[in-house]
Amino acid sequence: MYSPLASGSKEQHKIIILTAPSGAGKTSITHHLLKKIPQLAFSISAATREARAGEVNGRDYYFISVDEFTKKIKANEFIEWEMVYEGKYYGTLKSELHRLWKKNQYPLLDIDVKGAIHVQEQYPEESLSVFIEPPSVKELRRRLISRGSESEESLQTRLNKAEYELSFINHFNKVVVNDDLEEACAETEALVRKFLGIPL
Ligand code: 5GP
Repeated sequence: MYSPLASGSKEQHKIIILTAPSGAGKTSITHHLLKKIPQLAFSISAATREARAGEVNGRDYYFISVDEFTKKIKANEFIEWEMVYEGKYYGTLKSELHRLWKKNQYPLLDIDVKGAIHVQEQYPEESLSVFIEPPSVKELRRRLISRGSESEESLQTRLNKAEYELSFINHFNKVVVNDDLEEACAETEALVRKFLGIPL
């Protein structure tokens, strides 16, 4: 469910991909990286789900309808896209990566495991993929429950998905275990700095 960029040299184009099962702390690590490394910029995905309270269109996501999303798939506008949850589509637009590269920034992609694999396949040299691993599925359950936003059914769906996603762990360049968030942030930051050649 992806297609290569139609044109353009990829040499100077680096990409950082952060992926993880839901609840592994990926969002916190994304925020940490964006704060500490100003050369990084959040790659805003297109998504068909409803915006949550506090989310802003064009900042958190480009919220679009399923119809618009389907048109963009047909027009080959995505690097990758996935139906991450039942009926909910998410995708990385080629135009988004170009927008950031043009500003001399490195896109930071916070995307699901399959999307991450697809981007990596297209940019094997230019991308660094980091998989954030929760200490255990038991701990993941505890974190998702403490977040308080899950019904029993959606909790089970997320846990099943997490176990499935954990089976792809060997596909990524680096794995960071998040049993201590501060350490996981520091470790990921060091990996990204090294890859981009940006010292502390
Ligand atoms: P949420 O709905 O909680 O914002 O995101 C759900 C999941 O979709 C997260 O794991 C997030 O990383 C993933 N996601 C966000 N944007 C994209 C994207 O462009 N492509 C893919 N494949 N997954 C995405």
